[in-house]
Order: sequence, then C-alpha cells, then structure tokens
Amino acid sequence: MNPTLLLTDPFLLRHAPDDEHPERPARLARILELLEQEPVAGTRWEPPRPATEEEILAVHTPRLLESLRRLRGQHAEIDGDTLVSPDSYDAAVLAAGATVRAVEEVMEGRARNAFALVRPPGHHAEPDRAMGFCLLNNVAIAAEVARRRLGAERVLVLDWDVHHGNGTQACFWGRRDVLFQSIHQYPYYPGTGAPYETGESAGAGYSVNCGLPAGSTDADHGAVFQQLFLPIAEAFRPDLVLVSAGFDGHRQDPIGGMTLTEEAYAAMCTALMDLSERMCGGRLVLVLEGGYSLEGLSSSVRACVEVLTGARRADFPEGPSPQALAALKRSHDALRIFWPVLG
Ligand SMILES: [Zn+2]
Repeated sequence: MNPTLLLTDPFLLRHAPDDEHPERPARLARILELLEQEPVAGTRWEPPRPATEEEILAVHTPRLLESLRRLRGQHAEIDGDTLVSPDSYDAAVLAAGATVRAVEEVMEGRARNAFALVRPPGHHAEPDRAMGFCLLNNVAIAAEVARRRLGAERVLVLDWDVHHGNGTQACFWGRRDVLFQSIHQYPYYPGTGAPYETGESAGAGYSVNCGLPAGSTDADHGAVFQQLFLPIAEAFRPDLVLVSAGFDGHRQDPIGGMTLTEEAYAAMCTALMDLSERMCGGRLVLVLEGGYSLEGLSSSVRACVEVLTGARRADFPEGPSPQALAALKRSHDALRIFWPVLG
C-alpha cells in the first residue's frame, strides 16, 4: 500500500506578521511537534516546491500576484485581518506549491492520499483579492492543475472550515467541472455561503452551501454529510477529492462558535475516504485552512492523518438538532432542482 504523504516546510513558519494574530506560526509548529512526538505509521514526509507563476495565474489575476509580490520584504496590512511580513509572499507561493505537489503525487499514484500542512491558508482568497488571512487560494490552484494537467475531469472541493470558502466559490462559480461544497457557521464571516448561492450559468447547482447556526454539533455535521454532500458528490462522480480542512469549528477554538470534537473531523475524513475509494481510487488530498486552538487543531489534524493511513475510522453520532435540520432543508430546497438524487 502506498503511504499517506505529508507535505510541509519550515519556511512556512516565516509568514509571521504579528505575534497577536490568531493565524500565527505556532499553529503549524504545534502540529509538526505532535506528529513528531507521536508519529503515525504509514506516512511519508516530503518538502514542497514553490508553485509556478503559470499555476498561480490559472486562478488569480496578474494584478493580485503583482500586488502581493510588491509587498515582499515588507510588513504591510492588506486589510484589517490580512497582514504580511517580509517572507509572506514566498511562504504563500510555497504553500500553494505544496498543495499542487500533494495533488500531483496522488493523481500520479505515488501516494495513497495526502495532507498539505500549509499556511498561510487560502480559501478566502478570490481571483483578484487577498482577504481573511489568505493570500493565494491553495486549493483552487491545485484543483486547476488537476483539471488542466493531471487528467482529472471532475474535482470535488469540500470545505469544512467554520468559515465559508468564498474565495474558492468565486473561482468556480460558473463551472461544472469543479463541485464546491461548504459547511460553515452562518451567518458569520465572510457573510457569503447562503443556501441560495448555488452557482450560475454552466455552474448552476455546482456550489453547494449549508450554513449551520453557532453551537452546531458533530451529529449536525453528520446529517449534512449524509443527506446533502455525499449524495450529490456520488452523482457528480469526482476524479479527485480535495478538502479545505479548517479546524476552527472545534469546540476549543477561540474564533469559531461550533462544538465539534476531534472525532467529528475523523468522521468527516472517514466519510471522504470511503467516497474517494468508491469513486476515484482513493484520491483524496486534505489542505490545512483555519484552526486557532493549538490543542484542538493539532489533535484533530493528527486524527485525520490516522484516518488517511487507514489506522482509524470514525462514525458520526446520531441526533441532529431541529435548527440544523431546518438549515439542511433550506439547502435541499435550493439544490433539489439541480440534483434529482435529493428526491
Ligand atoms: Zn476559518
């Protein structure tokens, strides 16, 4: 059996705009420390390469790339949340490259599956705009490489970060070759992710949003996976499954308002392992997004790595709340006309 590939680089710790900022180097440092102290058998570590300009420009505008490049060597503020330090540009290009490399290794059969342990995160970055701690959209760049160069005809991007992945949605809003599914706290930052946001023109029905109220649980996430995401994903028949894996829905997270446990992340990962094994030879790549409790983040990442290697499986608990079922029904109602499988 091929190993689970883990990609990271110490240079990613050098994106360090401000000690007080929640998206700080200690996040990744703690994950790496835990995986070193308690290694998971069946993993292989590799360093990434930087993303090429061509790979980045398949998603982002030259104007955005140039504006980020001009900030190289400086401390600067892009918006109130999004700050850069002198090495941030190069870290962002390396994070995107790590994600591309993960997808290349999995698509070309050299890894069973992979987890790109990267920062800065990417899912809020739109084609022409860096925002929400994100500079370049790592997942979108990798999905585009899979489509253009690696033979994937259909890519599923599933985003379980507590925030809506507005950037990724914007990248693929009018397309049917990339299915975007997001479960998130709603209403919440960045304001998008309403159930009626379903894509347009050729992409109508290919943005799938389920926003849950603050306080939502492991069982609520299970209901969304089982009743919405997985049936649509099966009908879509992906050649590759990419996950925007943010862990800020964890109950210890200081930013998100959900109550998820490490077991919920293991269960979401198990469900996607099973899906990718049924659909596309197990081709599954997780990419780190948010997660600001060092303990909640590192333990949940390690749980997912265990799932990826096959050492662990987890099921969702039963019993979603009435509020979550109401939110799920709104998404169902918005998407039923596009996906007969929803009944
Ligand atoms: Zn987030």
